[in-house]
Amino acid sequence: MAAGIVGRTLAHGVELLAEHDQELYGLLEREQLRQHETLAMVAAASVADPSVLACEASAAGNVTTEGYPGARYHAGCDVVDAVERLAVDRAKAAFGARYANVQPHSGSTANQVVLCSLLDPGDTVLGMGLKAGGHLTHGAAASMSGRFFTPVRYGLDGDGLIDYDAMAELARRHRPRLIFCGASAYPRAIDFGRFREVADEVGAYLVADISHIAGLVATGQHPSPVDVAHVTTTSTYKQLYGPRGGLILLGRDAETPTASGKPLAAAIQDAVFPYLQGTPRLNTVAAKARALARVAEPGFRALTQRIVLNASALAKELDRLGHRVLTGGTDTHMVLTDVGRRGLTGKIAEGSLEECRIVVNKNSIPGDRHGPRITSGVRLGTNVLALRGMGVTEMTECAELFDTVLDAVRPSGDRTYVLDEEVRGRVAGRVTELCRRFPLPDHPLPGR
Ligand SMILES: *Cc1c(COP(=O)(O)O)cnc(C)c1O
Repeated sequence: MAAGIVGRTLAHGVELLAEHDQELYGLLEREQLRQHETLAMVAAASVADPSVLACEASAAGNVTTEGYPGARYHAGCDVVDAVERLAVDRAKAAFGARYANVQPHSGSTANQVVLCSLLDPGDTVLGMGLKAGGHLTHGAAASMSGRFFTPVRYGLDGDGLIDYDAMAELARRHRPRLIFCGASAYPRAIDFGRFREVADEVGAYLVADISHIAGLVATGQHPSPVDVAHVTTTSTYKQLYGPRGGLILLGRDAETPTASGKPLAAAIQDAVFPYLQGTPRLNTVAAKARALARVAEPGFRALTQRIVLNASALAKELDRLGHRVLTGGTDTHMVLTDVGRRGLTGKIAEGSLEECRIVVNKNSIPGDRHGPRITSGVRLGTNVLALRGMGVTEMTECAELFDTVLDAVRPSGDRTYVLDEEVRGRVAGRVTELCRRFPLPDHPLPGR
């Protein structure tokens, strides 16, 4: 057990929980076991290191305050000020940024902060459409971003790649005040420079949302937008393997004046608090600092290399097995497949795979004839597989298991299906074996 009062408190807390709340403790045990024994291929997922979880569970979360280090609205903040400064310094170092705000409660909040600090209600926002792979917060009708602002959406060309020319035409026609780039379901590299040219031409801010590819950006596996876009936002729990939260980064434009005359950095600083948020979660800020320290370690670069190699291998093998892989491959951690071609819906694929302990998510694909609860696509990612130490050989096996399940499903409608019993048992057994062979590093093995 860890020495010191932090370790003793956490250990005692777990003892108390197990003793006094067996119902809840049992659920948490089951969830951790599930993470050990399933093949997590959700592209937005990762598994945080136990040291990150420890920060999240720490007593730093007891500190109530508002404001920023050195300028808080409550006493008792000397120590958490140092924690937040550490997180900011590590974020700046990891991304080569001139300014970092580590307080946003989520990636969505980070995007709201950017919208609300730089725009007036009703201003036009140009973002990637949801079905093209964009995110809700980039102007979708279901989100405040599409309701308080005027959304215009760009999409993909016939090959499934971002249609940069059409995007530029839309920008010229609609003169947006802000352009979002970065996606939730797009497997290819994004040309941030091209977006910036268009933003400059029409006088818009460019915001790069790197939620999905932040780890690749931090290690140079994908070009960085930090000095290209006016603002860069990200979630911290996806490819940074951190806690649930968000981050806002500024590069070369940190001191560029906004419409009000305030420099961009000051505008963002004032928008996170007090404009949109109240008290920061300082335990989560500590966990972000820990995750960002791990990003700077040499092992993290090796991990992101494996992520990309694995995704390419997975795409190639799925293609070989006759699956339609969107864009014909990937440059990132993500592989998008069209299961509609196999006579299935995303909903049925997701459900049948989960019965075999393979966790994926259904996803809309370009031209999808189904809504977001059914879909015709499945989105896969290699963050967790690479973390487990799996390589190209295992991707062949993962693709084969995926294919075996989808081959053994007989749909009865858009949502319901029959899955062959023998296949279910056989694949689930192989998944368990694979997960035991490649355990989550530094996580204690489940005991029985
Ligand atoms: C996941 C995601 C977000 C939202 O992040 P949350 O932290 O879950 O709110 C924002 N933008 C993109 C592109 C994403 O993929």
